[in-house]
Amino acid sequence: MNNINNQSLLGVLCEPGEQTLAVANPATGAVLGYIPVCSEAEITAAIARSHLAQGTWQRLPAKERAQLMQGWYELLMANQADLARLMTLEQGKPLAESMAEVAYGAAFIQWFAEEGKRALGTTIPAHTQDRRLVTIKQPVGVVAAITPWNFPIAMITRKAGPALAAGCSIIIKPANQTPLCAYAVVELARQAGIPDDVLQVVIHHSPEVVGDIFTHHPDIKKLSFTGSTKVGGHLLAQCAGTVKNTSMELGGNAPFIVFDDADIELAVQGALAAKFRNGGQTCVCANRFYIHDTIYDQFVPRFIAGVKALKVGNGLEPDVQIGPMIDAAAKERVIAGVRQAQKQGAVIAAGGGDLAGCFVEPTVLVDVHQTMDFIQNELFGPVAPILRFNNDELLIAQANDTIYGLAAFFYSRDINRIWTVAEALDYGMVGINEGIISTELAPFGGVKQSGFGREGGCEGLDEYLETKYLCFGGIGRG
Ligand code: NAP
Repeated sequence: MNNINNQSLLGVLCEPGEQTLAVANPATGAVLGYIPVCSEAEITAAIARSHLAQGTWQRLPAKERAQLMQGWYELLMANQADLARLMTLEQGKPLAESMAEVAYGAAFIQWFAEEGKRALGTTIPAHTQDRRLVTIKQPVGVVAAITPWNFPIAMITRKAGPALAAGCSIIIKPANQTPLCAYAVVELARQAGIPDDVLQVVIHHSPEVVGDIFTHHPDIKKLSFTGSTKVGGHLLAQCAGTVKNTSMELGGNAPFIVFDDADIELAVQGALAAKFRNGGQTCVCANRFYIHDTIYDQFVPRFIAGVKALKVGNGLEPDVQIGPMIDAAAKERVIAGVRQAQKQGAVIAAGGGDLAGCFVEPTVLVDVHQTMDFIQNELFGPVAPILRFNNDELLIAQANDTIYGLAAFFYSRDINRIWTVAEALDYGMVGINEGIISTELAPFGGVKQSGFGREGGCEGLDEYLETKYLCFGGIGRG
């Protein structure tokens, strides 16, 4: 773990022991360091401290919270290079992508620092002369967040930003594979003056134990989860007992559609970006490609050439575009998906080779059909299955034929088709002639079993606010 300039970011590291968690580099398998895990009593104590701290934080004027958050944003950006290096070491993504994620993650803190000042209520024209009707916005209370490893900083700041801005305290359980980034960003929040108990991280060997405590504890007023649909559904059921406010950012199965009137070069570039960012381990990743018959022979060879040019390796090496899968099990799952598709008739048109370690060669599959298993499931790896189509109506039905509804992408230059298709796709987000859609400025989130709630944009703050209605009576009685 050398070459991290700001050593205080790594203050959490400890000697190995029973109550510690080893953090490994997926590119090399080397242990980066050990961090202490919490006991159940310590997690419960963290909730109690969070509950106490929330009252004080809530009473701070929004402008003062915003100033502290702006300081945090500035420290995140001042430490961008160190945070990015840490991210590549523990998560594996190429350094350039880590740099971009730090900036993207920090942007949520700045955006919500500003948005918090605009948590506006309303006045409502009353139904009688002697009443006045008003709404105010108040924080939901203590928030628990559970986040995944694929965006180890942005998935935290996308929740912590709006929670803090709204006046909530927040406790984060990051993925056990990427806790160092979590500790590092929280350390910078402390350096910026955000009180310790307002923003905390907890780690336990068992995610189930943390999930149980978070979902059953009466002082946790909201659970915000990002991860798989399976775990999200499970947590949602557990939250029913205390009727918790929840936000669920879950899995995806994004179709990427290229119509016959598309700008082919733009579509190829968009396809490479939408598929291979983070080695295909992104919830909005293009999961299946639908290419119109008449341009299939123009699109596919260019796409394959782009895929073959992708450089695979340790994300710290210059020019690497595809890092390792997060672990050996993730690699095995991707390889098994390809093998199963081959058994069902798919043909490898690029890649498919056996690489050492946790690396997977970027792979293109053709002769793919809608009924194949991996068209229905989230691939989460650098594999691009290509299907043909020649009928818009049937295509929309196939694109929507999934339990998921997070993101979809399509390329066309026909304005009539663009509106028709954009409205017909059952997805929370649609990229039109664009393969990268995430920004702090816009609402991110899904429909169907991809979850509910929005992160980012003006909508993101509302997830952490309750609307309280005040009815003033007796007006005008002298
Ligand atoms: P995951 O297995 O659901 O894990 C996500 C988080 O939940 C981790 O912190 C994990 O802890 C924790 N967890 C696992 N089982 C749990 C349980 N029973 N109770 C409480 N917490 C539990 O998902 P993943 O494989 O890490 O992440 C990939 C998934 O996230 C994909 O499906 C992807 O599409 C989705 N995702 C969605 C979005 C979005 O915005 N919609 C964004 C990014 C990722 P441990 O690490 O300790 O196991």
